[in-house]
Amino acid sequence: MVFDVLTIFPHLLDSYLEDSILWREQKKKIIKIRFHDIRAYSKDKHKKVDDTPYGGGAGMVMTPQPIFDCMKAAKRKNRRAPVIYLTPTGKLFDYKMAKRLAKKPGLILLCGRYEGIDERIRKLCVDEEISIGNYVLTGGELPAMVIIDAITRLLPGALGDERSAHEDSFTEALNGKKEYPHYTKPREFQGLKVPPILLTGDHAKINAWRKKKLK
Ligand code: SAM
Repeated sequence: MVFDVLTIFPHLLDSYLEDSILWREQKKKIIKIRFHDIRAYSKDKHKKVDDTPYGGGAGMVMTPQPIFDCMKAAKRKNRRAPVIYLTPTGKLFDYKMAKRLAKKPGLILLCGRYEGIDERIRKLCVDEEISIGNYVLTGGELPAMVIIDAITRLLPGALGDERSAHEDSFTEALNGKKEYPHYTKPREFQGLKVPPILLTGDHAKINAWRKKKLK
């Protein structure tokens, strides 16, 4: 799956990507992430990408021309990918949405900055608007990465042990619930013991216990 990320900070996430599981998935060619520098497309002689809002008010707004031209270039490379604008006013991102988007051949993710983008870009280019939570961040880069990460976990072959994605919180395997507690070695830590049932080897009883512990 190919992700094209449109941003004015194309290197912001370099170190995160190099050190995360997403790097391995890129090497395995399960995903490809391309960053497009919106500023590089600005026709302004100072490469400006923002301006004051019509009607007045605080803050700057991202101008439409650089985004529009950058989008055209991204679309040429990722023709069947829907365009998603990350915005706090969008639909709240969740597991169901990640599953639906994981079926797409690719995604074009538009990251805003400042007060956001000129409304005409929404009308001309955007297919869907997504929020990662009811709070305001300074830019769309982290939301884009959250979406890429959540989707990548769901792609076939992406995780070493595929069971772990299928039995994660919110999945059908857990009836949409949040998962049970995990324990590993040692058997006792700081006076806290592993629940004895997990040491019995009785898988029917262990499964029943885990089911009871789902939240
Ligand atoms: N003025 C906007 C508002 O009140 O909705 C907030 C703009 S925010 C400072 C700048 C950019 O960060 C947005 O254009 C968007 O791309 C991104 N952003 C901020 N919070 C977000 C969230 N919760 N989900 C998705 N994107 C977000």
